[in-house]
Amino acid sequence: MESELRRLVVVSNRLPAALKKEGGEWTVKAGAGGLVTALAPVLRNRGGVWIGWSGASDPDLDVDGLLADFSAEAGYDLYTVGLTPEEVDGYYYGFSNEIIWPLFHDLQTRCRFHPQFWRMYLDVNFKFAEVVARKTTSDDYVWIHDYHLMHQAFFLKSMGVKRKTGFFLHIPFPPPDIFMKLPWRWKLIQALTEFDLVGFQTLQDRRNFAECLRRLMPEARVSGRGGVVSVDMGSRKFRLGAFPISIDFNQFNDLAEQPDVAREAFKIKEALRHRKIILGVDRLDYTKGIPERIRSIQTLLRRYPDLKGRVNFVQIAVPSREEVGDYKELRTEIEQLVGRVNGEFSFPGWVPVHYHYRSLPHRELVAYYAAADVGLVTPLRDGMNLVAKEYCACSTDGDGVLILSEFAGAAAQLQKDAYLVNPYDMEGVAKALHRVLHWDKGQRLEHMTRLRDQVRKNNIYWWVDSFLQAGIARSLGDFPEVDALRYERG
Ligand code: UDP
Repeated sequence: MESELRRLVVVSNRLPAALKKEGGEWTVKAGAGGLVTALAPVLRNRGGVWIGWSGASDPDLDVDGLLADFSAEAGYDLYTVGLTPEEVDGYYYGFSNEIIWPLFHDLQTRCRFHPQFWRMYLDVNFKFAEVVARKTTSDDYVWIHDYHLMHQAFFLKSMGVKRKTGFFLHIPFPPPDIFMKLPWRWKLIQALTEFDLVGFQTLQDRRNFAECLRRLMPEARVSGRGGVVSVDMGSRKFRLGAFPISIDFNQFNDLAEQPDVAREAFKIKEALRHRKIILGVDRLDYTKGIPERIRSIQTLLRRYPDLKGRVNFVQIAVPSREEVGDYKELRTEIEQLVGRVNGEFSFPGWVPVHYHYRSLPHRELVAYYAAADVGLVTPLRDGMNLVAKEYCACSTDGDGVLILSEFAGAAAQLQKDAYLVNPYDMEGVAKALHRVLHWDKGQRLEHMTRLRDQVRKNNIYWWVDSFLQAGIARSLGDFPEVDALRYERG
């Protein structure tokens, strides 16, 4: 046990507040994800710090001034790392999103292994590490998030700065056959061994990492069992763990139960004439399997013509990385497919696919989840997939079915009661849909009740707690502001 509670310092690519230009004026918008919600009280309590990029790369902008009010209201300090447009291109769009993102999602043919991306990644990681070194002390616990910042511990050490560090990878870690294609594989894995704790979403990700480590650094010895294991590198030790991220279950559940949201859900059902609703919600990203999913709906309607006029597939596609060529092409592909399927099957009074290319306000999203009869979550590969968990949290009457890709991290926890599918197998997905649409209410309730119990118990607070327990032997209970009702231990 540590004698003193450390100040918590969170480091991520983006700050939990985004700068946006609206009507010629810059404004600050708070981030609303589960991670921010779960960490905010901890940061507030311990006088914490969040370090990240603001999202703006205009050198004349007074970012610190703009963030000062937000910081005062949030109750913790925010420090920005200023990035030039060239740095954003090389480190963020280049190395992070055109190399690590596709490679770690097993889509290596999409990688563009440009050496200049790698160099910029190192430069920007160094820049981040300089800010971390300046704004923290050796009593702090520095928790670094995600694939953009894998070199933080490495650079802190190379500067001679001693910090206790934890790293959490939000995306999958690939098996050796794929990871070995990375030209900078040794340097990258070596950098990861410099953290005190490296966390993954699933045991499989952790195993993949250990296997890559064994191949590239044969001196590494992995020992132990259970959630967290030790690695002995000879000169030093560090730890590896699996910590599946989750959502604020009560926040989604309570919102879905609010009368106006329930009314909104009813209106959605009414507008679709109480046909069965199959729902997909994703950022428009090639890892999410959206074209394959639309083809599965096409297969469903071809194979089972009795379903014509009786189901609707609603796809919410949230705009993402719109300036990138691959994402533009994907959008065109999806929109053509939607047109093709609707062209093939529509008749007066029924259009099978409802496609929305926009981000939804939170309440509307919850209303869609609550209205849906089937949550169709079929990524080709996903670190976790929070949509799957949010859908369960919003099925407050327990009358919903989750169809889930076996390649989503969430499948490791939800496999017993979700209907698992291979997203590449369009006939298999169509069959699964046909089958669950014929489940009786008892079957639906039985599975959804258990899914909801699982997500309620292993919620975002449990996740933060497990990571902090492993990192600094402290739990969320040591940070008293956390709402006791929301915090349920696993
Ligand atoms: N989401 C959103 N706006 C929308 C629809 C969804 O912010 O219009 C959120 C959704 O609630 C979820 C997140 O986007 O929390 C998607 O997370 P997930 O883990 O499923 O995938 P990611 O986009 O992180 O790859």
